[in-house]
Amino acid sequence: MTLHLVDTHAHLDMDDFDSDREEMLARARAAGVEKIITVGIDVVSSKKAIELAEKHDRIYAAAGVHPHDASKIERADIARLRELAQHHRVVAIGEIGLDFYRNFSPKEKQLQAVNWQLDLAADLNLPVIIHARQAAGDTVNVLTEWVKRSHTAKYMPRGVIHCFSEDETVAQQYLKLGFFISFAGYVSYPSSKAARVAKSIPLDRIMVETDSPFLPPQQYRGKRSEPAYVAMTANVVANAIGIPVEEFARKTTENAMRLFKI
Ligand SMILES: [Zn+2]
Repeated sequence: MTLHLVDTHAHLDMDDFDSDREEMLARARAAGVEKIITVGIDVVSSKKAIELAEKHDRIYAAAGVHPHDASKIERADIARLRELAQHHRVVAIGEIGLDFYRNFSPKEKQLQAVNWQLDLAADLNLPVIIHARQAAGDTVNVLTEWVKRSHTAKYMPRGVIHCFSEDETVAQQYLKLGFFISFAGYVSYPSSKAARVAKSIPLDRIMVETDSPFLPPQQYRGKRSEPAYVAMTANVVANAIGIPVEEFARKTTENAMRLFKI
């Protein structure tokens, strides 16, 4: 039986895919990956993400500036993002968030950039794709404030925590805020507790992704990841939860379609 999957987070515009982008997409399709969300990390890559989504039916785009680049972001960039994000193939603002592991941008700048973009998502009635590394406490605080200020009759604050690798307690905090939780290839690493944590998450709140070209599953470690591998992640998480992978795939695909309206 073929699985029906959505890779909810990939970076298909990156030059890692320049030599075989079409073949990579064909392999994804053969593996049951019906839709892919390609996610921008700055204004330029958001633009490229939209170009890919214009070219391919099964690809959708997210526009945003990654926390690594937060120090470079100014009000003018938000205006450019706003223009880009109004394109009909853009389904989310992302990836945005906080990263105090690499700390490529100062904390104050990261907080400003994420808040600007969260408010942009609310303005444009879009969900958000959140990157949080070594920043769970601050991310929960930022999102709590955002949910409070942006929840109106017209806008329901919503989004996904991508590459979730925290524990059950943190997962519950994000769930309470209405967020989805997404897992990537690292669930298959021997050191990862993520698959176990997945048991604590209601089935209507889980999604899967590859974060391609990053974070390949265990058997491809050290190599490039690609959307076809999302099936491996689905298998590992379904096994950990104890349900058939077909059911898990159906549920996570429904979740992605609901959040991103795809
Ligand atoms: Zn990413």
